[in-house]
Amino acid sequence: YCEVTRTFRNLRPPVPLPPPDAPLSFPEFAFSLLTSSPLPAHPALLDAATGEALSFPAFLSQVRAVAGALRSVVRLGRGDVAFVLVPTRLDVPVLYFALLSFGAVVSPVNPALTADEIARLVALSGASVAFAVSATAAKLPAGLPTILLDSDRFRSFLQKQSDGRGEEGLAVVRQSDTAVIQYSSGTTARVKAAALPHRSFIAMVAGAHAVLGKPRHGRERTLLGAPMFHSMGFYFALKGVALGQTTVVLTDAVARRGVKGVVEAAERWAVTEMTASPPVVVAMAKEQCHQLQALERVVCGGAPLPRTAAESFRRRFPNVDLCMGYGSTEAGGISLMISREECARIGSAGRLSENAEVKIVDHVTGKALSVGQEGELLVRGPAVMTGYVGDEEANATSFDSEGWLRTGDLCYIDQDGFLFVVDRLKELIKYKGYQVPPAELELVLQSLPEVIDAAVMPYPHEEAGQIPVALVVRQPGSKVTEAQVMDHVAKRVAPYKKIRKVLFVESIPKSPAGKILRRQLTNHVQAGAVSR
Ligand code: AMP
Repeated sequence: YCEVTRTFRNLRPPVPLPPPDAPLSFPEFAFSLLTSSPLPAHPALLDAATGEALSFPAFLSQVRAVAGALRSVVRLGRGDVAFVLVPTRLDVPVLYFALLSFGAVVSPVNPALTADEIARLVALSGASVAFAVSATAAKLPAGLPTILLDSDRFRSFLQKQSDGRGEEGLAVVRQSDTAVIQYSSGTTARVKAAALPHRSFIAMVAGAHAVLGKPRHGRERTLLGAPMFHSMGFYFALKGVALGQTTVVLTDAVARRGVKGVVEAAERWAVTEMTASPPVVVAMAKEQCHQLQALERVVCGGAPLPRTAAESFRRRFPNVDLCMGYGSTEAGGISLMISREECARIGSAGRLSENAEVKIVDHVTGKALSVGQEGELLVRGPAVMTGYVGDEEANATSFDSEGWLRTGDLCYIDQDGFLFVVDRLKELIKYKGYQVPPAELELVLQSLPEVIDAAVMPYPHEEAGQIPVALVVRQPGSKVTEAQVMDHVAKRVAPYKKIRKVLFVESIPKSPAGKILRRQLTNHVQAGAVSR
């Protein structure tokens, strides 16, 4: 902590990064790390369901082949936005690297969204092409040119011999160019398109390389528990390749089996590391069938993990380091536990990442606070997004005048540099680590004729972390039921956003400006939900 600037940093020196103006794409950076020693003999990617493996040489040649085909056959180029609506598959990281290598922008999206939700995101991103599979393509807006990954055409791209044409006139990619557009409601109500530059991933992978280095014994295998469209899964998929690790991929067939599928895959493939959302850690602590003897670390983040769950996990797996991490779509990784000693700090979200600079401010007065004081966490650094695409209003509220990004999280940092996330100030519900923006559900509820007003609030839930609960004001005399309200919403949103409880109320407290007074509703939700 620096008293003069009132900012926090990790005590380790910042990781050196390439000069920001040097032209460099993330894949160029990743491949330079990867090829600085002989290519690993273990696979780059392993399908948890089938055992199909993709070697590092095959990965590199597929990336080159697909990039060449996309440029010369599909005529994609730098700055074109590619909407990716694909469940986790081995060829997804190939597609990501291929698009990024010539400066196209990857926009990965959760295939569970409805066609209407998807249409809104396509419009936000300005995508000119989409990648899908046969099972997801029908949800895309008509007229958007689409390439199916499970088609003979794409399979021919993977095998295309480079004739050098793909390389001709290769556009120079700058580190400041947008690499990824991801969707998040951030600290304001509506969903927005967050643009992250190549430099964000260069910085995060350089940081991981500095602290973790390359595989120590070649048996390291990371099970990617987070889906590849989510910021954490996306980053881990890129990082695994760059650091020469084997990434075990939870393809759809395994993911559909839930935690049981995840744990069985971890045992079957003797994984040494896995990423997991808090609900998976909670379930793992309870499951008794698997020993997971190879497992050394579980990296957990995306939502808070209850202290009791962390304690039971440690009792169940005493030899496994449970490393909490904290970050967001907009900021990338902000903190992480690295060492065994750090992992012992139950309740904390780890220490700050090497290149992150953080401020804790009083969220009413904006005054910068000191060690141990609770306030909103603001972050600055190379991993942070450039901004929301085409949304100056949201950018003006999300960044302060000195370029600090507001996280909307109430945090403090103790005297040993450990970060604690105390509460969420922003209007965001996290169901199993997925974002559920209340404002979106409130609009859907208000489209029901018998509903006069509605508010959606989080309610703690052991398995999911939080569930969305609706407070609904009915028209006088209306007999609309809880089941009808839930059904109305369920038909219009992705399954993970469904309303899971309804409380009928007389009114929703609002400020004079019409803003829902959510803090006042918290007690109401607790009491109402418990009394049922
Ligand atoms: P997303 O953009 O979907 O990754 O969501 C980011 C938000 O998830 C953060 O702003 C936090 O509110 C929450 N979050 C992520 N990691 C943690 C954590 N370790 N502890 C508590 N909340 C977290």
